Amino acid sequence: MAARTTGQLQVAIVGGGIVGLITALGLLKRNIPVKVYEQASTFREIGAGVAFTANALKCMALVDPDVVNAVNAIATKNGQDDAESNDNLRYHDGYNWDPNDPEGSDDKLLGLLYTGYKGFQGCHRAAFLDELVKYVPSHAVEFRKRYVECEDRGRNERLLLHFSDGTSAEADLVIGCDGIKSKIRQLILGPENPASYPHFTHKVAYRALIPMEQVEAALGPFKAYNQHMHTGPRAHMLHFPVAGGKLFNLVAFVVEPEDWPLGDPNGVGNMTRPATRADVAAAFKGWGPTVTKLVELLPETLDKWAIFDCYDYPAPTFVRGRVCVAGDAAHAAAPHHGAGAGIGVEDALALCTLLEHAANTLALSSQDPGAADAAGVVEAALQIYDQVRPPRSEWLVTSSREVCDIYEWVHPETGEDWEKCLAQIRMRSNRLWYFDIEGMLKELRDGWESRFPV
Ligand code: FAD
Repeated sequence: MAARTTGQLQVAIVGGGIVGLITALGLLKRNIPVKVYEQASTFREIGAGVAFTANALKCMALVDPDVVNAVNAIATKNGQDDAESNDNLRYHDGYNWDPNDPEGSDDKLLGLLYTGYKGFQGCHRAAFLDELVKYVPSHAVEFRKRYVECEDRGRNERLLLHFSDGTSAEADLVIGCDGIKSKIRQLILGPENPASYPHFTHKVAYRALIPMEQVEAALGPFKAYNQHMHTGPRAHMLHFPVAGGKLFNLVAFVVEPEDWPLGDPNGVGNMTRPATRADVAAAFKGWGPTVTKLVELLPETLDKWAIFDCYDYPAPTFVRGRVCVAGDAAHAAAPHHGAGAGIGVEDALALCTLLEHAANTLALSSQDPGAADAAGVVEAALQIYDQVRPPRSEWLVTSSREVCDIYEWVHPETGEDWEKCLAQIRMRSNRLWYFDIEGMLKELRDGWESRFPV
């Protein structure tokens, strides 16, 4: 067994996605030893877009400024110049259209939502991950390590993680960043608990990255280079530029009445099925010219992504003893606020902050034997995390479902009254984007000091 260095915590992160890597960078920045165990043979992300909201960017800066450097290296600002007026998300009526304007050149603008300066820049996922990985030292990662089990050998021993290749590793605590089908969530909640698994939202997403010159030729530069959402009955479409404006990220959401079984709850597949452009055209049949042109720009074949979330069965806790979950592993949300990864970054900041307190307390206790032990400080840190984080992330899960209904004109309080829709969207988005990060950090610090007075 590896000897514990006095005052040092060894952290294991299961899963090297966006949240796992950002958490690891934050811990390394605080000189806390960490190892990421990733089941794949390399870091990988899908070829699709992701955008980070203001709250996520602020948290990234506090976790580790290099994370913001990684975003800035690849993020694409709205519009073709740096004007602040470009920082708006434009909502359109994608369904009703003027037969005197068959080109859809004037599709009805329902309203604007100001996202803040560079507030919602598009990123190519794989490019972002490539940038992030540059800052992660190789000693902090092990690939082809598929977590299967965690053994608790008692408070005076480190936890023992077992991997599918028969190897094992020790750690003082385990952070499960293993995504929507998290095995660590199953460990925390029990395999029989429905909250251990995500459930189908009856929505699917068609996603594509389209060469910008094709889009520009079809829709003109304004629509191509700015972020727009096309709303309508029981479906909607969102697009924004990525890859420095070379690619156009399009995602179309539609209702899927059939059930979609999760399949192997420990497997990585089952969340996508092959689809065709004709499927998307059928779903948006009768919509306006802009949406019709957008569908025509899609490749002939593409994937259909099932949207699962934790809405039906939210996790009653994110923590068990010295094990916790963060990001999608804790609170997978439907993507309609574009904020799942962003709120995972908030988790990362909370965990890094608490574990810094824990490491400092442990270091001090080496001069005052008996004052604190590793298991005690870890459990305290995770209990505070479990008090502070779930209300906000559960709100995101709920609001993501509701805001989709608002975009699709079926929310009981807003219906097709677009003024009410926009007021709701603005209120919810602002609650998400202008999160009181200092308030969260104070809550964490107060929680710590009430357990370990200075
Ligand atoms: P993941 O990215 O799923 O990473 C989990 C990692 O764990 C993977 O690398 C996996 O291989 C590994 N793993 C799994 N099991 C094991 C195991 N047993 N052992 C070892 N490793 C394991 N969010 C935003 O903030 N902005 C957006 O614009 C946005 N758009 C979205 C659009 C769509 C259509 C969708 C579906 C989601 C969107 N999201 C967005 C949400 C965002 O993609 C997720 O919240 C985010 O990627 C979750 O990151 P994660 O690190 O928690 O999990």
